[in-house]
Amino acid sequence: MLVARGRSRPALRRISRVTASAPDLVFPARPLPTVAVVGETARFPVRRIFCVGRNYADHAKEMGVEVDREAPFYFLKDAGSIVASGATIPYPQGTKDFHHEMEFVVAIGAQAFQASVEHALEAVYGYAAGLDMTRRDLQAKAKATAKPWDFGKNFENGAVIAPIVRKADFGAIGAQRIGLAVDGVLRQNSALDDMVWSVPELISHLSHFYRLAPGDLIYTGTPAGVGAVMPGNRIVGTIDGLPSVELRIGPAETA
Ligand code: MN
Repeated sequence: MLVARGRSRPALRRISRVTASAPDLVFPARPLPTVAVVGETARFPVRRIFCVGRNYADHAKEMGVEVDREAPFYFLKDAGSIVASGATIPYPQGTKDFHHEMEFVVAIGAQAFQASVEHALEAVYGYAAGLDMTRRDLQAKAKATAKPWDFGKNFENGAVIAPIVRKADFGAIGAQRIGLAVDGVLRQNSALDDMVWSVPELISHLSHFYRLAPGDLIYTGTPAGVGAVMPGNRIVGTIDGLPSVELRIGPAETA
């Protein structure tokens, strides 16, 4: 017994030393992207950002496509593109058509691997109001030439998010209203049950292509009414039961 204890202790100490000490870095790592949680002092660390395309029929129509129920599709944004609600961001470079997309965001809090639709919500930590900011002209050009959407969708400050509300505090997803106003003028106005693919369907589907893990966010698509914003505009997006997401557009940055 004494021998066994003597053997196991140094091994344990070695493991804890390895995991506790940060590696030397050639330059400082960027700060971990995190999101506030309502009722918690601890924050939600962001891992990956999945975004669903065309998940409201009326938005698909305004983009010139009929929605189908064949399969949902996605694009991703870098975790570092997260911006907290209330921020002012510079008008991004490379675009002349910067659009708002108001979205219901699902925050994943547990592993989901090949999850069934019935069990998919077990992986949810909570929900938040978010903006999938879009360089529409770059996205349109990519679509027209069958190129990836990254330049239109994945750029600095492109994923805005309000504080997360825990799943139990929000309750069931149903007919909650989702809307967005620019300088007080309503532009987007719909309901969460207008989604083409439900939240459980999206989680289940994604979990057959990725091993969903705590920290992953899913932006679930935008209803009709997307449009351009300009420096000076103030965006306020609301979803029943969640803190509103707010964003101010500042002037473009210069070199
Ligand atoms: Mn979107």
